[in-house]
Amino acid sequence: MKVKVVDHPYVQAVLTELRNVDTGQIEFRKSLVRLGRALGFEIIKEFPTETVWVKTPLGVEAEGLRIKGMNKVVIITILRAAWPMTEGLIKVFPQARQGIVSARRVEEKGMSPDKKFEIEVSYVKIPPIGGEDTVILVDPMIATASTMEVILRKVLEHGKARRYIIASAITTPVAVERLTRVCRELGVDATLYTASIDPEINDKGYIVPGLGDAGDRAFGG
Ligand code: URA
Repeated sequence: MKVKVVDHPYVQAVLTELRNVDTGQIEFRKSLVRLGRALGFEIIKEFPTETVWVKTPLGVEAEGLRIKGMNKVVIITILRAAWPMTEGLIKVFPQARQGIVSARRVEEKGMSPDKKFEIEVSYVKIPPIGGEDTVILVDPMIATASTMEVILRKVLEHGKARRYIIASAITTPVAVERLTRVCRELGVDATLYTASIDPEINDKGYIVPGLGDAGDRAFGG
């Protein structure tokens, strides 16, 4: 798995807004939308392009480009925290098909010594996935990657895409290590886009310094 930490100043400024405990619910949600859109612009750099010519209102030809494969994108939203980031990504990939997965960490059982949570999946609706598709899996906070691992396996049951992109706000070295191992095992070509790799996960499974509970902050509890 390739890892791209997006150091664009806009992305880093949005991340700072997200981290700030004084950022209220509305601004927090809007910032996740902004982040989704900004990551979308980075992700699009991976798409092939072709030269096209168009006629301008001045009656002359101008050289331009067309991005290929925009109609072969599937965005998977992991409820509920990924919803605002998906809203941003959809602005960049308006033709994307969409899948929804509802999953929760069984926090009552705690985190195992190898930093893994049991995951309960309660809803899965994923469109058929073809060999030319780019699948974008969205989750703002990837702490242990326990959820992402389960969802990646579920998504693969619906067909194998050409490539997989994981879009997040913050992830951790534990998650990068786990996802690298899982992607190798599953034989998938994946790239993780994130605004930061934070160093720690606390006993409750929160990323430190992190930004708190992304779902609670975006949706008001
Ligand atoms: N999910 C969150 O919302 N925050 C974390 O820090 C970890 C998982």
